[in-house]
Amino acid sequence: MTIELARAHTAPKPWGLADVRPWSGATSDGVSIGEISYQRPGRTVSAPALLLKVLLTSQPLSIQVHPDDDTAHAMGLPNGKTEAWYILGAKPGAKVAVGLKQSMTKLQLRAAINDGSIAEHVAWRGVAAGDVIVVPAGTIHAVGAGLVIAEIQQRSDTTFRLFDYGRSRELHVERALAAAHTEPAELQLWPHRLTDERSLLVDNPHFVFERIELQPGSSWCLQAIRETWVLIIAGSVTASTFSVATGDALFVEADRVELGAGADGVIALVAYVGAGGPVVELLQRLTVGLSRAVQDPPPPELTPILAQSSSFPSYRGTRP
Ligand SMILES: [Zn+2]
Repeated sequence: MTIELARAHTAPKPWGLADVRPWSGATSDGVSIGEISYQRPGRTVSAPALLLKVLLTSQPLSIQVHPDDDTAHAMGLPNGKTEAWYILGAKPGAKVAVGLKQSMTKLQLRAAINDGSIAEHVAWRGVAAGDVIVVPAGTIHAVGAGLVIAEIQQRSDTTFRLFDYGRSRELHVERALAAAHTEPAELQLWPHRLTDERSLLVDNPHFVFERIELQPGSSWCLQAIRETWVLIIAGSVTASTFSVATGDALFVEADRVELGAGADGVIALVAYVGAGGPVVELLQRLTVGLSRAVQDPPPPELTPILAQSSSFPSYRGTRP
């Protein structure tokens, strides 16, 4: 039974920003902040299986790849890293790269890493706020400049760099070649509305990623059976005993959280571990108190949702 207000840890990065409000009020004394990682408070707690971060870029990040679970195991690492991005903010022209434009042989890929032309072989695409990008492990990828991104990923810090725009950091050519898929990335699953409040962003064997939007003043119960991260991206909400707003994150596991949306409502990203698709009972509307309900009928927006189907029947069949 766990409900925690996550600690936001800011990390300096050469490609970061000096001012990272509203995501964090931290100041960096002239050093740019490129990453906010959310951590469970306390020293004795177990490490989560998923990592939640906000990335803020003023320059492009390296072109990189992460191993999948099998490749990671072969390298003596506990697991690979599949990640997914939700674009929180994008300057005009901001772009990301996911996969290669065309299939390459490992020999061609090695040559492109060695001469730096890999930056022209990856599939760049423009992005805007609200876009969702899935980066399965083994996919060569990059984040461009001018972006604020919420990232959820398998717990791993294994990154193999293929290109770093002339910065002096080490490249990892052999391990990148071992980990990388050499084809274009598969078609992305676009957000899919599950209910009026819930949109499914990503569903893969490692995590489910959702966006929830709650109307001003509405009350809900979030049932977090599995390890669950909640990142507030707009508005405010009371969550159990915490009052949280944009940039705050909660860690919840095997617990129920009462959510009271603030005067402007709230939009949050929710990520939880496990295969099997979105959890139907994740979010349930709370009804008004019994005494009031007896005296007069509840207003329409507080009508209890009594019948929740046991699955989302339309979801599987309507992937684009
Ligand atoms: Zn990455």
